[in-house]
Amino acid sequence: MTSIPFNNRYVNLGEAFYVRTHPETVAAPALIKFNDELASSLGLSVANVEDCASIFSGNVIPEGAEPLAMAYAGHQFGGFNPQLGDGRAILLGELVHPSGASVSVHLKGSGQTHFSRNGDGRAALGPVLREYLLSEAMHKLGVPTTRALAAVTTGEQVARERMLPGGVITRVAKSFVRIGTFEYFAARDNYDAVKQLADYVIEHNYPQLREVENPYQALLQAVVDAQAKLIAQWMQLGFIHGVMNTDNMSIAGETIDYGPCAFIDAFDYNKVFSSIDQNGRYAYGNQPSIGMWNLTRFAETLLPLLAKDSDAAIEIAKNILETYIETYQRAWLDGMRAKCGLLAVSDKTAHKDKVLIDDLLDTMAAGRADFTLTFFYLSRLSAQPSEADEDIRKLFARPAQFNQWFIKWRERLNNESLNDEQRQVKMQAVNPVYIPRNHQVEAAIRAAEDHGDFSVFRDLHEVLQNPYEVQKGRNHYMSPPKPHEVVSKTFCGT
Ligand code: AMP
Ligand code: MG
Repeated sequence: MTSIPFNNRYVNLGEAFYVRTHPETVAAPALIKFNDELASSLGLSVANVEDCASIFSGNVIPEGAEPLAMAYAGHQFGGFNPQLGDGRAILLGELVHPSGASVSVHLKGSGQTHFSRNGDGRAALGPVLREYLLSEAMHKLGVPTTRALAAVTTGEQVARERMLPGGVITRVAKSFVRIGTFEYFAARDNYDAVKQLADYVIEHNYPQLREVENPYQALLQAVVDAQAKLIAQWMQLGFIHGVMNTDNMSIAGETIDYGPCAFIDAFDYNKVFSSIDQNGRYAYGNQPSIGMWNLTRFAETLLPLLAKDSDAAIEIAKNILETYIETYQRAWLDGMRAKCGLLAVSDKTAHKDKVLIDDLLDTMAAGRADFTLTFFYLSRLSAQPSEADEDIRKLFARPAQFNQWFIKWRERLNNESLNDEQRQVKMQAVNPVYIPRNHQVEAAIRAAEDHGDFSVFRDLHEVLQNPYEVQKGRNHYMSPPKPHEVVSKTFCGT
C-alpha cells in the first residue's frame, strides 16, 4: 500500500490555511498495531507490516499524499492564543470513504512543523497507546470519535520528564477542522477565509446544508446539535475529555485530541484527571457548560456570515446557541432514561424522571460508587427486590444509602410494560461492561514503555472491541482500581 487513493481538498483552500510539511523520518519504525477493520472500511488494501510501519511513521509518503500542517488558533483554558496549529501532527491527505463521505488521515508525533514553537513535534509512546485505546473504545461504545488507523514506535527516544520511547499514531477523522480553525481567521479579520472554510466544511461534512437558505446559520445549528449530543454521550459514560480548549473541539462533532482524557471510576461530579487543569475548568460536571462556551466562540467567528446587520447576526447566533441547552438536556435525559431502564417515556414524566436520575447520581457521588458498575448491575436487576440488589448496594460507601433510591426506581418501573428480561436486554445494550479504566490504560502504557511489552495493550484493546458483552475469563477488566492501583493524574505531554 504505497499508494492511497487520496483526494485532497484542503490543499485547494490556499496557503493561508496550512504550511506544506513533510514528516521527519525516524530511525527504526516498527508497527505496534494496524486497524485492519478500519482500513478495509475505508477501502484501503491491507499492507504488509514493513510498508505499514514506513508509511505510518512518516518515513514513506504514499503516492497521492500532499502532507501539510493545518493552521489554527484556540482558546486554551479560557485565554486566546492566535496561533497554535499542527505542531506535532500532519494531515497526510483526504480520502473519499466508499459511502461517499470524506475522511482525513493525520499523523501525530511525526516531527516538527512551522507551528511547533518550542516543541519537538514528537509524541511519546504512552500517549499514542492511550489515544489508540480510548478512541477505539469510544467508537465501539458508540460515541462519534476520530479513529486510530495505526500505531508505530519510532526507534527513537523523546525527552519528556525523562527519556521515553517515541511513537506515531495515525488518526482518521471526518475532519480535523476545529473551532480554533475558524478563530484563526476571524482573529485576523479575514472573513473571506472564514467563508471559504465554512464552505469547505459544509461541502465535506454537512452536504445536506448546501441548498438551504442561509447555509452558515444552518452550519452553526448543525455544529451546536452535534456537540450537544456528543457531550451528552460523554456524560453518560463517565468520560472526561480533559482539555476542552476550542482547538480541541471538532467541527464535525467527533471526540478529538485525546490527551489527558480518562473515564471516571468512583463517581464525582468534580472529577479532574489532567495534571494541568488545576482549577477544574474541564471537570466532569463542567463539560456541558464548557461546550456552550466553546460554541459561543464558534458563533462569534461566523457573525458576519449570519446576517448583514450585526445586531441581527447577534440575535440569530443567540437563538441558535440557546438550542444547545435544550438539545443537550433532551439527549442527556433520553440516554439516562435508557441507562436506567425507563423506557415508557412521555414528556409528562420527563421532569420526574430527571429528578429520579439526578437523585441516583447524587447518591452515587455521596457513596463514591463506581460509575460503570452501578449501571452494569442496575441493568441486571428485576423489578422486584432480590438478592442481586446486594451487588449494587455494596458499591456504595454505606450500602443503606442506596435503599431509598431502589424504592423510587421500582415504583417508577410500575409504569413500564416490558418484563424484566426485555428491559434488561435494552439496558445492557447501553450500559457497558468494559471501559478503558484509567489504571488499566496506565498498566498497558507502563508495560510497553518500560519493558517493550505490548501484550497488555493488545489484550485490553481486544476486550474493548466488545464493550457491551460479558467476556468469559475477563472479569478483572471490569474491576475498579484497588486503592494502590488508582491513577488519579493524567498528563498531556505527547
Ligand atoms: P494539544 O495538547 O493537542 O491541545 O496541543 C496544543 C498545541 O500544542 C498544538 O498547537 C500542538 O500542535 C502543540 N504541541 C503539543 N505538543 C507538541 C510537541 N511535542 N511539539 C510541538 N508542538 C506541540
Ligand atoms: Mg490539540
